[in-house]
Amino acid sequence: MGRSRTYFEPNTRIGKLTILREVFPPLQGETNFFCKCDCGKYCEVLGRNLKQSLRNNSKTRSCGCFKHQNVPILDDLIGHRIGRLKIIRRDFSKIHSTYWICLCECGNKKSIAARHLKSLKTLSCGCIREESCRETGLKRRKG
Ligand SMILES: [Zn+2]
Ligand SMILES: [Zn+2]
Repeated sequence: MGRSRTYFEPNTRIGKLTILREVFPPLQGETNFFCKCDCGKYCEVLGRNLKQSLRNNSKTRSCGCFKHQNVPILDDLIGHRIGRLKIIRRDFSKIHSTYWICLCECGNKKSIAARHLKSLKTLSCGCIREESCRETGLKRRKG
């Protein structure tokens, strides 16, 4: 009975994950582990992936939330003004990136991508026209 199967001590920490227990039955013949992430989520991770992360002393191992932390959360922008826009609240209908509902001084409300606000590309609902650059608007994008 070779001890090739992956084993971890309970409560082993790898990155942001704490390994709780093995998942039964194994998925596709591979040992999975039920882990708790520091963010509060639970996830199942392949034993061999965990083993590799442990070997690399990986600090980035997480339920998947780690990546997202590189995206700045702009909650502190609520109530701030950028150009003519006042940021009212997060637009939760946009799930692929962060959008904010902004109230323009002209009275229009508009949902604007956080990255545009942050880069100061968008300073109004559209009522300010920047004469010099008309690069925005004409490019069609999917989604
Ligand atoms: Zn997480
Ligand atoms: Zn406006």
